Amino acid sequence: MEDNILKIKDRLLGDVLDNFFICENCHIVDTDSRRTESGFKCPSCAEIDDRGMSYFSSQVTSLINLIQEFYHTHQEVLTDEGESHVPFWAGNIKLPVVIFFTTLRELLLNNLIDELLKAKNIDGDICERLLSDSPTHKQRLDKLFRTLTGETWNCFKMYR
Ligand SMILES: [Zn+2]
Repeated sequence: MEDNILKIKDRLLGDVLDNFFICENCHIVDTDSRRTESGFKCPSCAEIDDRGMSYFSSQVTSLINLIQEFYHTHQEVLTDEGESHVPFWAGNIKLPVVIFFTTLRELLLNNLIDELLKAKNIDGDICERLLSDSPTHKQRLDKLFRTLTGETWNCFKMYR
């Protein structure tokens, strides 16, 4: 199996990365694919979970697939004479990839914030106030995430 995701072209990245499942009862997330089987008994809460849900929504996998598609798209434009031309910036500027990536980043953060609000059983009115007090991605990352977890977001720290 290819370990560099940028080189994967024969499969949809959304399918490759979609290997996290959530228990509908206790909400634990793991990579146990048996969760998709009927009658699976959750090892965490011992409840039978027949729904076997992927953790990531179809929006997440769709954005990942779009990033992959546009990353590998060969960029050509037509000249005024109607001839195919590869502009100097082709292959260097992948604006759709940047846009889809930032959208994915915002979607994942919003999903995480929603999960944290649910886990802390915060009342709906207070949730709305917290979200409206931090309307931008940066504010949610810097301020709201710290409020909910007591931690500072540092993606580099997580991989050490
Ligand atoms: Zn469970």
